[in-house]
This record gives sequence, structure tokens and C-alpha cells, in this order.
Amino acid sequence: MTTVDVGIPVLRTGRSSMEGRPDVSDLVDRFGRTARDLRVSLTEKCSLRCRYCMPEEGLPPIAPENLLTAAEIVRLVEISVHHLGVREVRFTGGEPLMRRDLEEIIAGCAERAHGVPLSMTTNAVGLEHRAAALARAGLTRINVSLDSVHRAHFAALTRRDRLPSVLAGIRVAQHAGLAPLKVNAVLMRETLPGAVDLLQWCLDQGCALRFIEQMPLDADRQWARENMVDAAELLAVLGTRFDLKEIGREEPSAPAEEWLVDGGPATVGIIASVTRSFCEDCDRTRLTAEGTVRSCLFSDHEVDLRGALRSGADDEELAQLWRGAMWNKWAGHGVDAAGFVPPERSMGAIGG
Ligand code: SAM
Ligand code: SF4
Repeated sequence: MTTVDVGIPVLRTGRSSMEGRPDVSDLVDRFGRTARDLRVSLTEKCSLRCRYCMPEEGLPPIAPENLLTAAEIVRLVEISVHHLGVREVRFTGGEPLMRRDLEEIIAGCAERAHGVPLSMTTNAVGLEHRAAALARAGLTRINVSLDSVHRAHFAALTRRDRLPSVLAGIRVAQHAGLAPLKVNAVLMRETLPGAVDLLQWCLDQGCALRFIEQMPLDADRQWARENMVDAAELLAVLGTRFDLKEIGREEPSAPAEEWLVDGGPATVGIIASVTRSFCEDCDRTRLTAEGTVRSCLFSDHEVDLRGALRSGADDEELAQLWRGAMWNKWAGHGVDAAGFVPPERSMGAIGG
């Protein structure tokens, strides 16, 4: 076991036990799951400071030499698709738009992992200037994080007065063909009063809205289970304006449960990540901005690919390290259990 300073906390990385693992190429684990959905964090930097995610001063910077380059990201994405059975790639962070080489990363992945959907989770600040180029580079879809359509409320939640830029970004992205555009909102006591207006705005703009229960992944460690707004409370608030009918999940591994709004066709989703965790169907694998594989949001055990890659490992050696990381994925995170200990990295440092 070695320790590596990854610019945020000191994390545990090490070799993984392969005991009992069948000789298959896919990213299987001990609990019968296969990871096919890759989240790639591109940076720890961000243009906002959402209270449920980042500290006021931002995350400690990752040293430039510890950050994966565009070429390294493209190579690892290609390995994940061609050697490990990944079927979908989503870029996240931090804020992916903070990387000037984002278009190069997308274009490289679109070429070398041809045919695999490439999406991005973004706060959309500045997206209006880049949406067309990103679509041309091969980005297929985006999820925009937006918690309020009231300017003062948005500024209070994100500590930045950037709502106009976000709304412009959404508009331009829709025109650029980055559709269907989904909006994600973190469910908090502060966002609850504006939830009805946010849903109405999304219905008017043709965006699919999903609320996410707040997880204990804020850098400020303010999350408290007793303050958490759960799905039932949100449904009661939305029910004051809309007629909602439960229709369930789109597919077993989809985290969101969907409700038909006013008879449809529009829907609203709720990702009850805390009260109804979906660990048994989880099909995610994560690559951090520093090039470590993380098998679960909540597990601090990471396997370092960057070191191996820079020491000359070939594609199959890197693939085997990745398989080991996922084989040792735990059954579930127990986030709603008493005594749960949050991971060292916060959401912005993992890549949500
Ligand atoms: N900056 C981009 C954005 O905000 O979309 C991508 C990174 S952000 C960490 C990814 C997602 O994580 C966002 O949808 C954000 O709302 C969500 N998120 C951040 N902190 C969270 C928390 N404590 N609980 C639940 N979701 C969280
Ligand atoms: Fe930045 Fe996204 Fe975290 Fe908000 S949720 S601070 S936009 S990384």
C-alpha cells in the first residue's frame, strides 16, 4: 500500500486483490455487477462555489504535473471502451468547462471511442461560447446543474451571481443540438421553496428536470441527516402545483425514479441517493482528474493508473489494474446508516 498526494487529501492507493475473479475482460465485481458507465473528472477547478459541494475558497489546486493530460484521458477512455466494456462516458469535475482543452479531449474520445455516447455534467457558466464547438467535437448530451431560476437565490446557493450566463448556456446548447438536455437540482431546505418554479421553467424550456437528494459530500462538512430534504417532502411541495403520477425507473440501473407531470408527456425525476440508494444496480466506474480509478463515490480506496501509464504500461496492463480496482468494489456505501463516515474527497474532488 502506498500513499499519493493527489492535491486534495492524501489518499490510499494500492494493488488490488484479484482472488476469485473470473477471467473476463469486463469490469465485474464480487457482487455480480458490471460497470459500463464511466465518469471522468477533468479538473478540481470551478467557476461556482455551490455550498453543498465546494468550500468558499475553492479546492486546493492539483499540481499541473499530477493532472491527466488530454492525450492521457483519451487513451484511458479508449482502453475503457475497447478493453473493458464501457458503453457510456460522462465528463465531470470540478467544472469541465474550466479546461481549455475540453474540445480536444472530446474530439479525441469521439475519434478513438467511436460510437460511444459522450456526455458532460456542467454548471453551464460560459457554455454559450463553447456549446457549438463542443457539439462539433462530438459531445452528444449535457446535464446542467441548476438549483434555482431566481437570481438572488442562485447567487446565494452558488456564491456567484452567474444565473444569466447559465440560462444563456442552456439556450445555446439546445440550439447546438445537445439534446435531450437534462437539468439536475440538489434537493436542500434552501431549494425547496423554489422547486415549483424550477420545474415550471424546465417544462417551459423543454428540459428534463431531476432532483438529487443531497449527499454527505460537501467540502464544508455541513451535511446532517436530520436536515436532509427527502423525496417524500419534495413530492408534497411539487404536488401543490402539479399533478404527479409515479412511473418508476426507465431501466433497472437508472438512478432516477420518474413521475409523469400533469398527465405527461413531461416527467420529473428524483434521485433518492440517500434514502433509496441503488448500490445493488450501480454500473459506474470513476476516473479522477489525477488518474486514479475509484469504484464508488464513497470509497477512498483508489487505484493509480497515471503512475503506471507514465512508467510505460501497455494498454492491457492498464486495463488489468482497472479490473482489479472494480473487482474490489464494495457491496454498498451505507450512507443512510448510523455511524457512516464520509470519504476524504468532497464531490467536486471526485467528480459527481
Ligand atoms: N460542475 C459540474 C456541475 O455542477 O454539474 C460537474 C461537477 S458536480 C460535482 C456534479 C454533480 O454533483 C452536480 O449535478 C452537482 O449538483 C452534484 N453534487 C455536488 N455536490 C453534491 C452533494 N453534496 N450531494 C448531491 N449532489 C451533489
Ligand atoms: Fe462547481 Fe459543480 Fe461543485 Fe457547483 S456542484 S461547486 S458547479 S463542481
